[in-house]
Amino acid sequence: MSIVIQSVTKLYGEQKALDNVSFDVKTGEIVAFLGPNGAGKSTMMKIITGFIPASSGSVFVNGIDASTENPEIKKCIGYLPENNPLYPEMYVREYLGFVASIYKSGNSVKKQIDEIIKVTGLTPEQKKKIGSLSKGFRQRVGLAQALIHNPSVLILDEPTAGLDPNQIVEIRNLIRDAGRDKTVLLSTHIMQEVEAICDRIIIIDKGVIVADEKKSNIYSIIKRQKQIIHVEFDKYTDKSGLLGILNVAKVQQINNTVWLVEAEGQEDIRPAIFTFAVNNNLKVLSLQKEESNLEEVFRHLTKG
Ligand code: ADP
Ligand code: MG
Repeated sequence: MSIVIQSVTKLYGEQKALDNVSFDVKTGEIVAFLGPNGAGKSTMMKIITGFIPASSGSVFVNGIDASTENPEIKKCIGYLPENNPLYPEMYVREYLGFVASIYKSGNSVKKQIDEIIKVTGLTPEQKKKIGSLSKGFRQRVGLAQALIHNPSVLILDEPTAGLDPNQIVEIRNLIRDAGRDKTVLLSTHIMQEVEAICDRIIIIDKGVIVADEKKSNIYSIIKRQKQIIHVEFDKYTDKSGLLGILNVAKVQQINNTVWLVEAEGQEDIRPAIFTFAVNNNLKVLSLQKEESNLEEVFRHLTKG
């Protein structure tokens, strides 16, 4: 187990930012840490990385208690904080040298810097001031500083926030490559990112964990509750007819010929819709189950 979080509560004055949070991250897992703004994601990440203490509970990273000042813990964690604070007046290479020297000294440092500049695609920008870089390249510098000491655990707080779609894909690929042999906890609001790179999804809302599932299971949270069929006929039909189909609970018209039909219970209602069409002289142009997506799961668990 790379990260173990046991009953962590965090109070900011009167406010409870984390309320008895517990979860583990297995070695090698890539876990998405999702939640609306203010849910407590950054707070949890700051506690894991030892930047702030928990009010109660405990956190272990690679078996080391995160609340102690043990420098070993900083060595095994790479952390990209929210908003990626950097020194705009420093040059890229100079900054990475500065970060590397915190962890190590000697000849191997130069090699480490060369390597990380290459891995993160910073070669053309390495002599520029950080302040002059585009947001995408600044994010690469942030990732480079998180990766430079080859940590086994990566904590990335919204690494693609504010990037354009091309930059998002580039950074995502970098994270995926870097994450191959690491344990990764990643917060994001981009659901495609989660679909593309994560194995498991933890959702937090108002300081409380509301879901912790393998990616393949998370959709069942909603599927268990309703079955929605998207159907298109060749011509208009009357709503009341559709409502008369056995087990149909609700019907919503999308346009003249397209409907969303919601069933009660788990029995597949597609055969009944088909029979309805035949009996009413309609042709079925398409008939498919609506797959619930991650966005829907997220909204379902965190609204209100
Ligand atoms: P997230 O990263 O999910 O958006 P945060 O962990 O940043 O959430 O914040 C959780 C809650 O704690 C929010 O209500 C936020 O306003 C509050 N909070 C965060 N940091 C502090 C702080 N230093 N002092 C007081 N309240 C804070
Ligand atoms: Mg945050």
